[in-house]
Amino acid sequence: MFVEEEIVELQKLQDAFCKVGHVYSVLVDTTLQTITKFSGGVEAERYIDDLMDLDAKRSFLSQFSDVDGENVIAYVTAAKYLMVRGVALRDGNSRLKGVWIIYAIDMDKLTEDDMAPGFMECINEAQLDATVGLVENVAAQLYRENMDKTRLLDQLEMSHLNEVHNASRLQKSEVMTEILKEMEAEDSFAKIAEQILESAGMYLEVSECALLKVEADDDHVDMLCEWSDTEEHGWIRDFGVKTKADFPFMTGRPYTISGDTMIPENFADYFKENALAAGIYLPITLGDKLAMYIMFQMCGKARKWTVDELTFANDVKRVIQMTLTKHVTKNSLASSYNALEQILEHIGCAVSVYDLDKHCVLYSNENYEGLRITEQDRIELVDDLMHPERDSEGGHEFYAKQSEKWLEISFSYINWVDGRKVCLATIYDLTRTKQYQKEIEKRAGEDYLTGLYNRLRCEEDLEKMIHATVRSVDESALLYIDLDDFDHINDAIGHQNGDLLLKSVAEALNHIEGVAGHCYRIGGDEFVVLVSNRNFGRLENIIDNIKNVFAKPWYLGGKDYYCTMSMGVVIMPKDGVTVDTLMQRADIALHWAKNQGKNRVEYYNSNQASNTSERLDLERAMRSAVEDGCKEFEVYYQPLMDITNDGERCCGAEALLRWNSKSLGMVMPDKFIPLAEYLGLINEIGSHVLHEAAARCKYWNDFGHPEYKVNVNLSVVQLVQTDIVDVVRKTLEETNIKPSNLTLEVTESLAVNDMDKMQQVLGEIKALGVHVALDDFGTGYSSLNHIRSMPIDVIKIDKCFVGDIGEDSFADAFVTSVSQLADALDLNVVVEGVELEEQKEVLDEMNVDMLQGFFFDKPLTQEEFESKYLI
Ligand code: C2E
Ligand code: CA
Ligand code: CA
Repeated sequence: MFVEEEIVELQKLQDAFCKVGHVYSVLVDTTLQTITKFSGGVEAERYIDDLMDLDAKRSFLSQFSDVDGENVIAYVTAAKYLMVRGVALRDGNSRLKGVWIIYAIDMDKLTEDDMAPGFMECINEAQLDATVGLVENVAAQLYRENMDKTRLLDQLEMSHLNEVHNASRLQKSEVMTEILKEMEAEDSFAKIAEQILESAGMYLEVSECALLKVEADDDHVDMLCEWSDTEEHGWIRDFGVKTKADFPFMTGRPYTISGDTMIPENFADYFKENALAAGIYLPITLGDKLAMYIMFQMCGKARKWTVDELTFANDVKRVIQMTLTKHVTKNSLASSYNALEQILEHIGCAVSVYDLDKHCVLYSNENYEGLRITEQDRIELVDDLMHPERDSEGGHEFYAKQSEKWLEISFSYINWVDGRKVCLATIYDLTRTKQYQKEIEKRAGEDYLTGLYNRLRCEEDLEKMIHATVRSVDESALLYIDLDDFDHINDAIGHQNGDLLLKSVAEALNHIEGVAGHCYRIGGDEFVVLVSNRNFGRLENIIDNIKNVFAKPWYLGGKDYYCTMSMGVVIMPKDGVTVDTLMQRADIALHWAKNQGKNRVEYYNSNQASNTSERLDLERAMRSAVEDGCKEFEVYYQPLMDITNDGERCCGAEALLRWNSKSLGMVMPDKFIPLAEYLGLINEIGSHVLHEAAARCKYWNDFGHPEYKVNVNLSVVQLVQTDIVDVVRKTLEETNIKPSNLTLEVTESLAVNDMDKMQQVLGEIKALGVHVALDDFGTGYSSLNHIRSMPIDVIKIDKCFVGDIGEDSFADAFVTSVSQLADALDLNVVVEGVELEEQKEVLDEMNVDMLQGFFFDKPLTQEEFESKYLI
């Protein structure tokens, strides 16, 4: 009846749904002959066989009819915690081919005595129903014509993924902290419970929830408090006189009813009468007596509860139960540490309380110990929570590096029982969810964060594209994109905004014509775009559009953030015809772009590869040059010409660095500064230039030119060092230069992402009397607003504007308007890159203070500069 391949196929599906659903299964025919092997291991198989014998199985299978009839049947066994479902597998004519028997251990029904052995996975009924629903769906499609089996497998896994995904986004822990905080209030029990219901109801997005109280006669039922999402859902408000018999769940046991597929018989009327589709009902006991029921209900819409939602509902129940116990024993919570501890101890998630003054853990519950994270991670976790820049309340994800665990943390500040101000944190372990997502993601070829395809899929598609390109004797391209300084940005704006940034980038890329559907996220902040032979004619256009995406700031959490990208481009077949070669070469081109100073696009060429070894030489030589006291680094001086009065007078110089390397010859700054920044060597080199230039200027000042100033370039890397202000102060002291004769040139660059810090540092530098110039203005993210908000004295208009001056009305207008604004703000304007007489003449007419450029002089050695200008 089954062919070999068919069985292999079915086994695969079965293994998959068992794995994702944490259930056990085997496919049998009606005579109990096995078709597939049992999924879940021998131990589990034996354990289940002990719980359900052959006779039971036979009688169960006899309920399935040969043609048509039920597709899903539940079976109740003597062991209440063993849940059994059968799903019929039928052929195209509805004939029964076999039955998938699905077993699961019900975690809600397990008592202390019948704990399942460690190797068994436990779920709850709602989860089982979700899985059974899926299997039913899969079974129904299997024998339809032309059904793609692998699609089914994907479908199976994705549907679960969504569930997990939604659950994790809901930020359970945040609501739980909220609830714990409410619990602490001094109000009456009903008042507190009402608050808790509201938070829980909103979080779970249910139609209504209520707390029903069993009266002292043990028969009548009263409604204590309720919450509903809309007016019409609040039916329970008009409660009237009711008895336990009116509520099918009032048995003392918990119930969760999901969706509309399998409503238990005794619930049918109740559900119908009240137009319900799903519900969670949990008993609350006082001592060992049933005191209340907490219920969450969905009207109309079907609903499948996720594991996370169910654990959450149980936590809420526990909080209410403990609050109730405490109130009944007349122990005011605020005066009883024990009561609070009791509550926290019984809550399902990890809780930890920190003393903010003493910086130590005041209390943590057993679940916190159960997180099993290393001491080091624990310390980092505390640091993370105590971080002074944390908002007063909130939630976030935390990765415990050593223990490789993801935690969802939420915290709030409360007064502890003894009046101390403490931070109360609730922590949920997200690791499994994350791992689960990753695994599924990988198989589905999708990147869960951005919704783009992932690396695996990228390589598959690239392989196909190579074939197509070669076959059609055509060309195609691969663009390898990496965000610049993403790590810094991520640190500065926080993990969640970092994720948001990646998502926004993905979305923007996916909107570009020719990119949509061909875009992949292959690593943290790395993206790939494949440009097929059909789109190859538009390659330049596509690259321009990608550049444009990064030309504007990203709006995240109410603020603008700037992020540029670097891109490496490979063309096939020219640059390679295998996945490995192309990826490797795209990587080389990308790194080339990074080393050229980032924020640029580089096409691969073989020089880059040899240059990679050249780069290593450069790195080695640079390290030894720095170790050798920076002697090889020479400072050149390019005169700055003052044109405020008639004619032009030298008024100082910009210090420009040259590396006169013994092994490599003369190296220009464009070539080695990006690498020096990357290696962190720029700090030492930069301090050297600063010292040299300041000392030289002091010398000029003492020898007849007290008005000469010197401009020194400062890299952002230097600027973000914590000791930069000290470095400048020390230079002033050591060289004795008049502070106002020293100008530091900075670019806006990525530091605009941390404008506050930038303002602070520049402010401190200015407080020393040193001037600050904004370099390369008009490129990158320059905006007139920055001029206003940054504490600067001078604006240097980039040389790219000078080329067009007098010809291009935009360039003219730009220079004019910047000059006007500068005038209003009392700033000086320098235009650099003046090469021609005509340019100088046009600029003479504009409100510019200083000029710099080859027209006057190239950067000169110190001796050349002094012999010409020190007279
Ligand atoms: P920059 O700060 O924009 O420096 C001006 C650059 O323009 C210099 O290039 C200069 O030689 C060049 N230049 C000057 N007049 C003209 C002209 O009329 N036409 C053209 N086409 N170019 C002109 P250089 O010396 O190669 O420096 C390149 C960049 O390297 C500098 O750009 C600066 O960003 C960086 N740099 C140089 N010295 C240092 C330093 O000591 N520290 C740091 N952090 N960066 C430096
Ligand atoms: Ca400069
Ligand atoms: Ca410049």
